[in-house]
Amino acid sequence: MSTLREILAAPGPSFSFEFFPPKTAQGERTLWNAIRRIEPLAPTFVSVTYGAGGSSRDRTVAVTKRIAAQTTLRPVAHLTAVGHSVAELRHIIGQYADAGVHDVLALRGDPPGDPNAPWTAHPDGFTHAHELVSLVRRSGDFSVGVAAFPERHPRSADWDDDIRHFVAKCKAGADYAITQMFFHAEDYLRLRDKVAAAGCDTPIIPEIMPATDVKQIARFAQLSGATFPAHLAGRLEAARDNPAEGHRIGVEYATAMADRLLAEGAPGLHYITLNRSTATLEIHQNIQNSRSAHALAAGR
Ligand code: FAD
Repeated sequence: MSTLREILAAPGPSFSFEFFPPKTAQGERTLWNAIRRIEPLAPTFVSVTYGAGGSSRDRTVAVTKRIAAQTTLRPVAHLTAVGHSVAELRHIIGQYADAGVHDVLALRGDPPGDPNAPWTAHPDGFTHAHELVSLVRRSGDFSVGVAAFPERHPRSADWDDDIRHFVAKCKAGADYAITQMFFHAEDYLRLRDKVAAAGCDTPIIPEIMPATDVKQIARFAQLSGATFPAHLAGRLEAARDNPAEGHRIGVEYATAMADRLLAEGAPGLHYITLNRSTATLEIHQNIQNSRSAHALAAGR
């Protein structure tokens, strides 16, 4: 099987979807309904998040293994270092190897509870993501991804600091990066250009978050540090009592941004699904339509 690095280097954008491990039986049904709707599109990969501080450890491992065993999809397992000893991290990586999962997104994670609280490493654990990247790399035939931050990581002192540490993660063995959610294409382009100027050619996949519900987005933006555009917030606020209109606005905005990112040469798109497929599938379909229209106009 080709590695994700090889796939990302091939012509044409990749597309992928992110899920989280559900807590309830109903949540499980919703997730699998979304997975089964997305599967026929043959995405490059799907990823499964890891709860803060390992809170969803068993569920993440279970969902990822089931995707590997029961679908035609390629699962990427998120793994965070926070709260784990190196021995525990080795054990989880071993479980993935056993299940035939060869792709890990190596992250440091945030302090559980309050993501902005002071960072404390596990006494037998890691302090930064590059150490986890090296561990996964040393542990076998894995392809490793890392996080990138279009508005820079909130704990980085400045851009130089941020880019230096990002490049160190790539040098430790990252094959690709996926960004934090963002809502201005320019933020992604600035990050990409800064990384390239630092001599690093690791592909950076932009993460696309459909902003269809103003309350939910405000909370995510606060947690992730992403700046939410005031004009989009205003439009969604005006549609607060009209979910269909909020949905339309969010899909339209995300489609326009994704279209621009691909036109600017982004290697792919990674859609946050929140375990629901409707908005992301609409955005994905819009992008496919606009790519076909461009190809037709160019006589290809
Ligand atoms: P790092 O690369 O370690 O960076 C953290 C900070 O430390 C940065 O400011 C960096 O500049 C600095 N730094 C790095 N190396 C050094 C060094 N050697 N010396 C000094 N400073 C350094 N969280 C979850 O809990 N579960 C998930 O599933 C999850 N999935 C994510 C998926 C994506 C695509 C993204 C973008 C984030 C995800 N996160 C997840 C959140 C992530 O864990 C946090 O954003 C975390 O704060 C940063 O993780 P990192 O891997 O970038 O850490």
